[in-house]
Amino acid sequence: MAQRLVVIGGDAAGMAAASQARRRRDRSDLEIVAFERGHHTSYSACGIPYWISGMVADRDQLVARAPATFRDEFDIDVRLRHEVTAIDLDRREVVARDLDRGGEVRERFDDLVYAAGAVPTKPAWADTDMGGVFGVQTLDDAGALRDWLDGDPTPRRAVVVGGGYIGVEMAEALVQRGLSVTLVEKADQPMATVDPDMAALVATAMRGIGIDIRTGVGVTGLDQRDGRVSAVITDDGPVPTDVVVLGLGVRPNTALAEAAGLPVGPSGGIRVDRRMRVVGAPGVWAAGDCVESLHLVSGLPVHVPLGTHANKQGRVAGINLGGGYATFPGVIGTAVTKVCELEVGRTGLRERDATASGFEFVSVVAESTNRAGYYPGARPMTVKLIAERPSGRLLGAQIVGWSEAAKRIDTLAVALWNGMTVDEMTSLDLGYAPPYAPVWDPVLIAARKAVDALDRSRGQTEPVGGHG
Ligand SMILES: Cc1cc2nc3c(=O)[nH]c(=O)nc-3n(C[C@H](O)[C@H](O)[C@H](O)COP(=O)(O)OP(=O)(O)OC[C@H]3O[C@@H](n4cnc5c(N)ncnc54)[C@H](O)[C@@H]3O)c2cc1C
Repeated sequence: MAQRLVVIGGDAAGMAAASQARRRRDRSDLEIVAFERGHHTSYSACGIPYWISGMVADRDQLVARAPATFRDEFDIDVRLRHEVTAIDLDRREVVARDLDRGGEVRERFDDLVYAAGAVPTKPAWADTDMGGVFGVQTLDDAGALRDWLDGDPTPRRAVVVGGGYIGVEMAEALVQRGLSVTLVEKADQPMATVDPDMAALVATAMRGIGIDIRTGVGVTGLDQRDGRVSAVITDDGPVPTDVVVLGLGVRPNTALAEAAGLPVGPSGGIRVDRRMRVVGAPGVWAAGDCVESLHLVSGLPVHVPLGTHANKQGRVAGINLGGGYATFPGVIGTAVTKVCELEVGRTGLRERDATASGFEFVSVVAESTNRAGYYPGARPMTVKLIAERPSGRLLGAQIVGWSEAAKRIDTLAVALWNGMTVDEMTSLDLGYAPPYAPVWDPVLIAARKAVDALDRSRGQTEPVGGHG
């Protein structure tokens, strides 16, 4: 008799696991049922800002694989608009509610993949019936926002609450649609994923495209007129608006898992081993935004909700479920984003993470250009490196600059992943031609500078930094 795999969550992690398992085991050996409470499978939430801006014309372009593809080509029984409401580990079954027709179904499983993603932070003031307040977690959320932006009266002003990368990308998208945009952020800087000196460069670029950034400002409520949002109330006064977009971060979606007794770690995510098996729960797997990962530099459990990890973790779970062998060793915190032409990349630890983890380090900031200075289109590029002292091992890196900045972080991520020292990095054989880099690549210039800082730091007890 065929075994049965039940998947909870039909996006990146869940469907990667399901399709990898199917590649290795056919229907006579493994039946696969996937429950998804939304209208879509395998969609790119990452593409939402570009659909909102109009750069991507059609929502369907963001759907990598539609439910029909999974049914017809992968023989996976996808149940859309079905929300799993309970997991019974003793009886090995899940209970799901049919959101459109009503009623409940029970589905037996031998193996379970929990891939329910993350829950967006929604403060009490945002829990409202008034029109014009939107999250951007799912394609359904984004569809509702698009309808509002295309509606009558056409919104002219927008407030984005939260200055993380999603808030920053949404602010840019709304500017590109012609709205006048204010970004409200409680912290002292947008883009808290990079150090304040690098975030200041991002803030300058955002202001340069007309975004009104209010940092150090908390939101306390909303005002409305005729059921439509009319202002965001902040502790610095009201900000009039026609639409509000929430980008306040997410937490792992673990409610169902916890109710079933699955373990949650210190970061709030489900605890898994490196093969994506839930710790202490045979036959139960978890992947994506709902799990915690090992940070390979700090050694700490972390929650890093990114599509890149969700896809890899889902694939690892699916290969193992299919009888193969695969592991997800951990993360180093690599991420990239952009604000119009400005690109932002980061990997490893920020200064505050390095301090919190007890590292002694030097940190340097090197100013350079993306191309040879004489080559048309040469623009500034700022590279920051954080290196352990006295060993010189790279601990973290950040880049802000114009074209070729974001993907240069990958060079640094590979160096960091492999435990290279900044001294070793100075000899890296990186490509050079005037259209792509100065003769000394910005990465090499920064590495040389870090070596100098390490030399200077010998015998000192405080972290050493420097700009240049
Ligand atoms: C606007 C935006 C931009 C982003 N940009 C990037 C980027 O540039 N790079 C990057 O790496 N990442 C980015 N991300 C993050 C990335 O989209 C997520 O990390 C990724 O989608 C996580 O995949 P997942 O499968 O773990 O979770 P999700 O994509 O959240 O999927 C979980 C699914 O489970 C379903 N579900 C939840 N509970 C139940 C239930 N009880 N029953 C049935 N179904 C359920 C949900 O409806 C959802 O479809 C972005 C996210 C957003 C919102």
